[in-house]
Formats: sequence, C-alpha cells, structure tokens
Amino acid sequence: MPNAQMSVKLISKPQNILKTVYTACRTCYSALLPQEIFESTDDEEKMLNLIERVISSGHYSTIEHIQLSFAISNVSRACTHQLVRHRHMSFSQKSQRYVKEKGEFDYIIPPEIASKPELREKFEKHMSEVANLYQDFVSAGIKAEDARAILPNATASSLVASLNLRELIHLANLRLCTRAQLEIRTLIKKMCDEVLKEEPWLKAHLVPKCERLGYCDEDKSCGRMPQR
Ligand SMILES: Cc1cc2nc3c(=O)[nH]c(=O)nc-3n(C[C@H](O)[C@H](O)[C@H](O)COP(=O)(O)OP(=O)(O)OC[C@H]3O[C@@H](n4cnc5c(N)ncnc54)[C@H](O)[C@@H]3O)c2cc1C
Repeated sequence: MPNAQMSVKLISKPQNILKTVYTACRTCYSALLPQEIFESTDDEEKMLNLIERVISSGHYSTIEHIQLSFAISNVSRACTHQLVRHRHMSFSQKSQRYVKEKGEFDYIIPPEIASKPELREKFEKHMSEVANLYQDFVSAGIKAEDARAILPNATASSLVASLNLRELIHLANLRLCTRAQLEIRTLIKKMCDEVLKEEPWLKAHLVPKCERLGYCDEDKSCGRMPQR
C-alpha cells in the first residue's frame, strides 16, 4: 500500500545523559575520581558550561558514552541504504529473505511524484504490477530471497538503529543539510526531535553542519549560509 506514515521512536537511552557526559569531560582534568565527580553536582549550568567547552574543542570521545536506540518504520529501502552507510551505527532490519511480502506491499512515494496526480497514478500502477509479479514468483515456489530481486527502492522497511551521541551529532550535521534527500532528512530530524524532547540541551549540536561551521562547504549551496 502506498505511503504508510514514517514512524520514529527513541526506545532506549541511558539515565543521566548530561551528568554522564559531564563526568567524562571533567575526569580528564580533575584529581577527583569519576564517581566523586558524578556525585559532586546537579548544577545544570555548570555542567553545560564545561561540556560546551570540551565538545567545541573537538574532544569528542566524551560523548561516545551515550548509546541511543530507535525503532524506525515505514522508510524506503532507498533511505535505509543511505542510513546504513554510517559505519558507527548498529542495525537490525526487517529481512526480505525471511519475511514474504503479502499482496500489495507497502511502499513510499517520493513527495515530488506524489504531488503530481498523473505521475502518482503511473507510480502506483507500476507498484501493483510488481506486487503481482512478486506473488506469481512466490506462488511458483521461488523463495522470498530470490523473488525480492524485483522489489523497488521504494519498498517500505523497518529497523532498529542504535548509535552513540557522537555519531548522532555527525548524522545530524550531514543529513539535516538540504543537500541530503528529503526522506532521510525527515528521518534524522525525527530522530533528533525524539532526543531533544528529553535532552533539550543538545539543540545547538543537532543541526546541519553549516550551523556549526558558520558557512556552507557544499559545492551547491541552498543559500542559508554564506559559502566558504
Ligand atoms: C548529501 C550526501 C550525498 C551523498 N552522495 C553519495 C553518493 O553519491 N555516492 C556515495 O557512494 N555516497 C554518497 N553519500 C554517502 C557519503 O559518502 C558517506 O558514505 C556517508 O555520508 C557516511 O558518512 P561518513 O563516512 O562521514 O560517516 P560515518 O560512516 O558515519 O563515519 C563517521 C566518521 O568516522 C570516521 N570514519 C569512519 N570510518 C572511517 C574509515 N574507514 N577511515 C577513516 N575514518 C573513518 C570519519 O571521520 C567519518 O566522517 C552522500 C552523503 C550525503 C550526506
């Protein structure tokens, strides 16, 4: 079926994210033991101050202690292929070998096509034909792992994706940029929003790279920032 709604949920995160990052930062510069640092303060402003200085000086190991997991569904295979290029993430994705598509499989229509009725109709007709052919193959005894060869990039998928905070910031910097495709941009925005609901102090970091750099380093710029 066309255009099932993308869904992103933060399903696992550590307790005390701010305090853990603060403890990691301060441990590097303090004679106190990490446990003593952890128990020494709840002063958010003080913690944020140090964290900001440490992160902006590029001392990124301090944010690698925070591991986050997301349940993601109804994204296209094209989008998940882009996501799995990120090498510091862990993935468990719905298998097209073990899970047979039934009837009209779910797929994502790119908004550019969905907004043009004539093209949308052609797109949906093609998907129906693919679904019929897939069912013909499966009925003829072809395994799902081989029948899937005809499924398109638009096929909807679901996965659990995990990463640490350093990688999420990297992901945001690259994939919130308007040069990234709309679907993955939307996905990463939803992941960041899930985290920001609980950790609003990360707002300044979960941004496209131009906001951190103060300029755009892309060849083709969207014009939001001056080019390098
Ligand atoms: C707008 C856009 C367009 C793109 N277009 C294309 C395209 O046309 N074709 C294509 O193939 N890909 C394309 N990509 C994917 C891109 O080339 C990267 O593979 C992807 O963004 C992952 O980025 P990364 O390597 O920085 O991040 P990650 O894999 O998430 O790694 C994070 C960081 O870790 C370090 N790192 C990781 N692995 C290594 C390593 N082996 N050696 C040294 N340092 C490492 C690097 O500093 C890296 O930046 C595109 C990406 C974007 C955002």
